[in-house]
Amino acid sequence: MAAYEYETHDYDVVVVGAGGAGLRATLGMAEQGLRTACVTKVFPTRSHTVAAQGGIAASLGNMGPDSWQWHMYDTVKGSDWLGDTDAMEYLAREAPKAVYELEHYGVPFSRTEEGKIYQRPFGGHTTEFGEGPAVQRTCAAADRTGHAILHTLYGQSLKNNAEFYIEYFAIDLIMSDDGACTGVVCWKLDDGTMHVFNAKMVVLATGGYGRAYFSATSAHTCTGDGGGMVARAGLALQDMEFVQFHPTGIYGSGCLITEGARGEGGYLTNSEGERFMERYAPQYKDLAPRDYVSRSMTMEIREGRGVGDGGDHIHLNLSHLPAEALHLRLPGISESARIFAGVDVTKEPIPVLPTVHYNMGGIPTNYWGEVLNPTKKDPNAVVPGLMAVGEAGCASVHGANRLGSNSLIDLVVFGRAAAIRAGKVVDRDSAVPSTNTGEVDKAFDRFDGLRNATGAIPTADLRLEMQRTMQADAAVFRTSKTLADGVEKMDVIAGKLDDLHVTDRSLVWNSDLMETLELTNLMPNALATIYGAEARQESRGAHAHEDFSTRDDENWRVHTVARVDGNKTSLSYRPIVVDPLTTEDEGGISLKKIAPKERTF
Ligand SMILES: Cc1cc2nc3c(=O)[nH]c(=O)nc-3n(C[C@H](O)[C@H](O)[C@H](O)COP(=O)(O)OP(=O)(O)OC[C@H]3O[C@@H](n4cnc5c(N)ncnc54)[C@H](O)[C@@H]3O)c2cc1C
Repeated sequence: MAAYEYETHDYDVVVVGAGGAGLRATLGMAEQGLRTACVTKVFPTRSHTVAAQGGIAASLGNMGPDSWQWHMYDTVKGSDWLGDTDAMEYLAREAPKAVYELEHYGVPFSRTEEGKIYQRPFGGHTTEFGEGPAVQRTCAAADRTGHAILHTLYGQSLKNNAEFYIEYFAIDLIMSDDGACTGVVCWKLDDGTMHVFNAKMVVLATGGYGRAYFSATSAHTCTGDGGGMVARAGLALQDMEFVQFHPTGIYGSGCLITEGARGEGGYLTNSEGERFMERYAPQYKDLAPRDYVSRSMTMEIREGRGVGDGGDHIHLNLSHLPAEALHLRLPGISESARIFAGVDVTKEPIPVLPTVHYNMGGIPTNYWGEVLNPTKKDPNAVVPGLMAVGEAGCASVHGANRLGSNSLIDLVVFGRAAAIRAGKVVDRDSAVPSTNTGEVDKAFDRFDGLRNATGAIPTADLRLEMQRTMQADAAVFRTSKTLADGVEKMDVIAGKLDDLHVTDRSLVWNSDLMETLELTNLMPNALATIYGAEARQESRGAHAHEDFSTRDDENWRVHTVARVDGNKTSLSYRPIVVDPLTTEDEGGISLKKIAPKERTF
């Protein structure tokens, strides 16, 4: 058995992750008077949320009529009727409150002439339950909204005495013998010491797993560590087959150009200079939702109308917009286009391609952020002591496809909801659970095994093999054949985790070992994705299956529940939540309004 000495820390709450979701939860928990620690592998303001450009959705109605009911309807339709209705209602209803809170905490939003929060149009956000024109619902701080939110929430968390453990890498959860979560085992990256956090509540806010793919807009740190920890604890992942491709990653680098660029009037063209989105989505054109636009671009390229020497990408045009507006509203993306594509956006189009951007799936939770361990008997069974928020979680508000600017609002609404819930269920006076040493030993054994791995395959090589397979076989369009091949290949690739070679055996700043731990987290996420995709015989949202090209509500309006035990992946299904929280009589939305219908734009 591997023996590592460790230091013990006791808290009411430990939040793992300091992105928008982790910080909003941390701040809320601390405000509730709970002793709260936030553990993060990168400095808080370097979390991927810092890269969010376009904005955060809330029906403030500052730039024309809007309502939370319309926002909810768009989210339901955007999800292609796979989201949980109660969670989607909670999101839309609480969104304005959560944004005003951010404003009061100090987020420097862009302003209208009258001094109100500036809002821009984003894909799939409409008025009058999809019957009216596009709405301006996305609140923005120029094109650096995530940056502004993250810095503000970090400052507020410090002000409320939350304690930060920065550059601590969470290795594994500690579970009690009766299935509750009681803490987390961490490795301090800069001095190699080990730390055990015992807590009455652990909140996973570890972000997405975009790096399971070869080309992604996500940071290199987006490795699905929460999903990996949960899978190893024998818990489930949900709806992982739904991976969002953003229409406008810069060709070659994958760096993101925000949808806000089209919100501000940018448009896509093919090799004939045609604004082809007018053909695919006559009503909303370039502002149709992302799955729609990504598929349309892919079809143009397939049919020989791609741009560039290889005819393998599309143009995004901004040069018709006034230089002043570009400078005021989109300064960051003008810079990205210059650096990553060598393009002056005031004169030339930007070469773009659909690129992996967001994971709709994640750790299943209810709308309070409590993690679920669905069983046949109780599909909504809660795991005591464990919550998940942000991109790591699946509440599920995004269903089969997320609307642009609905993630940042998900982070703050559900980070806040988790804190409200913890304020109720965590007993401040009870003792912190004692350390389950058997679980700690297990985590150290795994860690030590990887640290001393002497197999044949370097981590970077196996990671690349996984990324290329996912990119090729679980792509924008999928077929029974590519998915079956992908499942077979991924099983072989996952098997090779036993044959890894780690070169650096030290404990201080050992990036080789950290990347190896991350690869062991990416793998269960990737397996759940491709297995879930292979099994789902329909097309819905981001899952475009060429052999089953229509949505099948009768058989498939259900959540996929995946369990990955080492190399063994098994699937089951869980009903979606159909009922809203409030009825029409109570000022809510009628079920009739949001009943499934064909999704056109
Ligand atoms: C380029 C880009 C632009 C985007 N723009 C928008 C936008 O305009 N609007 C919108 O709504 N959405 C946008 N999104 C999506 C949105 O930004 C993300 O979904 C969201 O920021 C995720 O936040 P998070 O808090 O869940 O995780 P992250 O911000 O990814 O943070 C994860 C945290 O977990 C920590 N962590 C992870 N693993 C461990 C571990 N093992 N141990 C310790 N700590 C760990 C990290 O240190 C980090 O602090 C964008 C995404 C990208 C990639």
